[in-house]
Amino acid sequence: MPSNSSALRATTLLVVEDDRALLDALRPALETVADDLVTAGTVSEALAALAAQQPEIVILDLGLPDIAGADACRAVRAETGSPILILTARSSGGEKVKLLDAGADDYVTKPFATDELLARVRALVRRSRAAPAGTMAPATIIDGDLEVDLREGTASRGSVPLKLTRIEWAILRALASQPGRTFTHRQIFDAVWARPYGNPSQYLRVYMTHLRQKLEREPANPRFLITDPGVGYRLEVPPRREDA
Ligand code: CA
Repeated sequence: MPSNSSALRATTLLVVEDDRALLDALRPALETVADDLVTAGTVSEALAALAAQQPEIVILDLGLPDIAGADACRAVRAETGSPILILTARSSGGEKVKLLDAGADDYVTKPFATDELLARVRALVRRSRAAPAGTMAPATIIDGDLEVDLREGTASRGSVPLKLTRIEWAILRALASQPGRTFTHRQIFDAVWARPYGNPSQYLRVYMTHLRQKLEREPANPRFLITDPGVGYRLEVPPRREDA
């Protein structure tokens, strides 16, 4: 649907990158996904830009001259609720956990293909418009004969009701608050349990296994309760079959 992709333009896109050559090379492509492009070369310039105008999406390079790494992400996150897409040279699982815990929404490893960057920007625009902060989206998950009503807290397969525990509902709702977004073990843990205890990743593995056994047709090959190995979990909402 071409009309769909052309609609997925950010109103304002803030790009924080000190590499002028890279910025100049990316500019024409970024202008295809944003009405208004604002640039900053340091974290302090980014904070000044955020104070003047809130962008819909932030692209943040982590190798900046004033503040670098996850600290840069934390500083930007403190000033905006908008999705942050990280440009990073590092790509280990541990680094990704650190970035997501610091408030990043997604990341791209340098060197990257421009198409990949644009696809991720569009995905963040789509996601942030589908699930504005503070609302729960979607209200239901329907996949074949499975129906989960997240607001009512009811689930069934065909005519057979499925019983989820209080904790299982809490995990499912935490993931459903932003479908497609990977939540780290720590983020899910903090959303579900008031007080952290034990090892979050081990604990969650047990609950996710139970949830998949209840909700997934093939628990070993999940369709919507997806593992991001070494990082966390995300919910992929199956597309609605309007003609079904
Ligand atoms: Ca840089």
